[in-house]
Amino acid sequence: MRYVWATGTHQGRVRDHNEDAVYPATSGAGEGPILIVVADGMGGHVAGEIASGLAIDRVVETSPEDGDVSPRERVNSANDRLLMAVRENPALLGMGTTMTLGLFDADGVLHIGHVGDSRAYLLRDGGMRQLTRDHTVVAELVALGHLSPEAAEHHPQRHLLTRTLGLGPVEIDQYEYQLEPGDRVLICSDGLTVMVDDDDIEAMAGGDVEGTVWTLIEAANAAGGVDNTTVAVVDLSA
Ligand code: MG
Repeated sequence: MRYVWATGTHQGRVRDHNEDAVYPATSGAGEGPILIVVADGMGGHVAGEIASGLAIDRVVETSPEDGDVSPRERVNSANDRLLMAVRENPALLGMGTTMTLGLFDADGVLHIGHVGDSRAYLLRDGGMRQLTRDHTVVAELVALGHLSPEAAEHHPQRHLLTRTLGLGPVEIDQYEYQLEPGDRVLICSDGLTVMVDDDDIEAMAGGDVEGTVWTLIEAANAAGGVDNTTVAVVDLSA
């Protein structure tokens, strides 16, 4: 199995700084295991970027080769790191971050650890599906059947998170997917998905990895760019 990836992040057209963070910062290729992480920080002033930065710094300390550490444990260690930072500096209280972590192993299995409303998608055979569940109030109302997906798109509270790293103990979702040659995985912050709907993301996600990253970021900015936008694209070939 061979992976090829690219990542990009942009502050957008409204915010004056970027609270998103992504790892790795550069594109590359390899046999796996490889680690790709997107984090969307929050907390006002610079605390949001401190949160996403600290969280990513912590998870990349554990080698992707270390198969004994689950995605859930990796994300949980990032949560511990943020709680420790707040204890050391109470001015940071209230900072938090989402985290969607993809560990792509040498056998083509994608292991995901996930908290928040960044997303992972799988593009396969001309279709696209979301691999993660958003931890937002509206996503939970939709899951319970109390709100239609259409109403959710315009709901005033659609950005309210039900789970975040940095605020206390948190339940972390973990998923495993067997990938196939030809698959493409997209991991992105909500800066993309708020501005560009899934059909349009799918339609624009067909170029090479680097081109697709920047096509999607530019599309979010062209649609208003109200938030920071981060995109990672990973291709698998035999
Ligand atoms: Mg965001």
